[in-house]
Amino acid sequence: MQVRRYNFRSQFASMPELLKEIETILYAGSYILGSEVSIFEKEFAAFCEVGFTRGVNTGTDALVIAMRALGIGSGDEVITAANTFHATAAAIVLTGARPVLVDACPDTFLMDVDQVPAAVTLRTRAIIPVHLYGKPVDIEPILRIARRAHIDVIEDAAQAHGAITCGKPVGSFGIAGCFSFHPSKNLSAAGDAGAIVTSDAGLANRLDLHRGLGQSGQNNHVLLGLNSKLDALQALILRRKLPYLKGWNEDRGTVAAMYRERLCELPISFQATRPEEVHVYHLFQIRVEQKRDELLSFLQSRGVDAIVRYPVPIHLQPAFAQFGWKRGQFPVAETLADQLLCLPIRPDMTVQEVDFVIAEVRRFYETQYPATHVGFTGAQGNPFGMARL
Ligand SMILES: *Cc1c(COP(=O)(O)O)cnc(C)c1O
Repeated sequence: MQVRRYNFRSQFASMPELLKEIETILYAGSYILGSEVSIFEKEFAAFCEVGFTRGVNTGTDALVIAMRALGIGSGDEVITAANTFHATAAAIVLTGARPVLVDACPDTFLMDVDQVPAAVTLRTRAIIPVHLYGKPVDIEPILRIARRAHIDVIEDAAQAHGAITCGKPVGSFGIAGCFSFHPSKNLSAAGDAGAIVTSDAGLANRLDLHRGLGQSGQNNHVLLGLNSKLDALQALILRRKLPYLKGWNEDRGTVAAMYRERLCELPISFQATRPEEVHVYHLFQIRVEQKRDELLSFLQSRGVDAIVRYPVPIHLQPAFAQFGWKRGQFPVAETLADQLLCLPIRPDMTVQEVDFVIAEVRRFYETQYPATHVGFTGAQGNPFGMARL
């Protein structure tokens, strides 16, 4: 059996009209922004329980444009997670600001909120919490720290469309929320696309300028903006998928629950979750303290499309050498980069596929390395930092 990470075809199964609608847009010729984009922007704002959406080219642009529209640039500092995807930190640098990293928490695999206050300086302009893998960051303490320091919170929600914490969708807590609709994400376009959401009307207007070459009325450019606007074809595809997103996220949750239940006595652990939050499982990460790479190759050799996401954390990437970060500086991010492994998770996964993945993970421990769970103290009770073999 082959268990893949993506199945794009299945997402379109219930949209027989889509090809006709694409044809209509192709012939009409209004390809960039326009009514299709405006309607999607309204629908996505409603989904996120915010006032406004502004569609842009990518999730990376969403972050850059949000920061530029908030006046963040050279000389400023922006705090984010040491274990995020490259784009979050790159976006900060692309605005001219300096990224200040906060280590991860070994239980949630998210930014360690307790370490944020120590990262705030007089130059700090914003905190970018990242709802990594689809799990909402513990947002209330971050909002409190930001309020006290008079700085902004910009949520990186690129992996968490529809995730809920404190009764509200992610993206709705900060001054801005940034989303990616890259084909790999829970809500995906047929190519690159992204969006910023906000409930601040003034910011929404500045986002318009910053995504549209600073243009305010024809031939009048009031600032230096990017040229980063959502296409009508992508907006159409996103509009047609959006009504299914909640159900797709729930189906991801069902797969995740099966994995958690039936792998829990193995020497692996999972992202800690809280009963009152909705995790949307963009990725299903398992933490494998011993022989992660052996498990990875074993699963791949058995047809399971497991993968390691972000094996090199931000502070050790050559692109950020100018900041002088050293190995050992963010030890939890480094350990997680060495120990996390993604099992395939898709909304359309069959029970047979999930059973197969579970059986293959179990087979690895039972047959390949029968002694690995000796001394193991339980899925969540394993002491962090236990020596790797
Ligand atoms: C995907 C992603 C981005 C960037 O989105 P693109 O659309 O690929 O530019 C930013 N942050 C995180 C956490 C992501 O996963």
